[in-house]
Amino acid sequence: MNNIINNMYISELETYFLDLGEKKFRAKQLFEAIHKQKIKNLDKLTTFSQDLKDKINNSSEIYGVKKVLELKSKLDETKKYLFELHDENVIESVLMKYKYGYTVCISTQVGCKMGCAFCASTKKGLIRNLYASEMLDEIYEIERLNDINVSNIVLMGSGEALDNFDELIRFIELISAKEGKNLSKRNITISTCGLADKILKLAEYDYPITLTISLHNADEEERKKIMPITRKYPFDELIPALKEYQAKINKRISFEYVLIDGLNDSYQSALDIKNLLKDIKSHINLIPLNKIKEYDEEPSTSENINKFKKYLEDFGFNVTIRRELGADINASCGQLRNNYLEQ
Ligand code: SAH
Repeated sequence: MNNIINNMYISELETYFLDLGEKKFRAKQLFEAIHKQKIKNLDKLTTFSQDLKDKINNSSEIYGVKKVLELKSKLDETKKYLFELHDENVIESVLMKYKYGYTVCISTQVGCKMGCAFCASTKKGLIRNLYASEMLDEIYEIERLNDINVSNIVLMGSGEALDNFDELIRFIELISAKEGKNLSKRNITISTCGLADKILKLAEYDYPITLTISLHNADEEERKKIMPITRKYPFDELIPALKEYQAKINKRISFEYVLIDGLNDSYQSALDIKNLLKDIKSHINLIPLNKIKEYDEEPSTSENINKFKKYLEDFGFNVTIRRELGADINASCGQLRNNYLEQ
């Protein structure tokens, strides 16, 4: 196994340095250099002798990201990045500016195998999982390129984070480590299409993160048509898992609901949501479908979106309509990578 030094906990770096015949305290120094000072390579590491740097360079790897393309929205301050990995795969990340600070939306896998009908990220299948270090470097590289500090992270880019569970946990631990970026776990949002068993496994970690479920239809048969994962994790597994998760981690669970014209925006669809989520403390985000060329449906009209919101509010739900950022740069994930691969 390669020693991927930007993917290691301090304890693992300690073992690494001891194996090299070096002192243990180097581990914390290197960890801080990578995760706090955000060095890209060892050149700038003045506290290490050239000898030691050579030794490290000869026995380890740094798996990060390299900018291939940056698109800036003319409508707001959103920027979209296409990054290349060490094996020449490419992924996308998005930087968004909100009143409360900078948020980065990261990819967790190269491609995706979940097969949602409306999603561009899954159209070319799953290539591989990302290492935690690659997920981290999506954020660090955006911070370096823009000279900013990112305060919120959403795992809502390409891929299914819970399908890359071990690296997801490593990512959360590394980014929140006090010797590193020290980001509050409260400022992390994980979005999933509903892998019930992994949701239960995540509950064991007791993280105060925000959990978001991509729902998109509360009628099981209809959901199967657009989200094949419903066959593997039907509602009678997903809903009890969410209740158990919420009993342990006493936070509202968010639900994403992409509104598709004539498919899931009727009063009946709102009623289905009411019945499905009646025992869960929730927040619902309504998002107009972002058109992709592989899916021949239209977003709901703004009139229907407002009506749908009203139905849900009348049922007592907490609802927001997601403000679309970066509308002119295809800021929803997967489309930029697909265009790039098809060139
Ligand atoms: N696998 C995770 C995260 C990736 S998708 C999940 O399923 O949640 C992030 C969000 O974008 C999901 O809610 C997804 O359903 C939504 N999404 C995907 N394609 C979209 C599109 N064309 N228009 C609007 N939202 C889309």
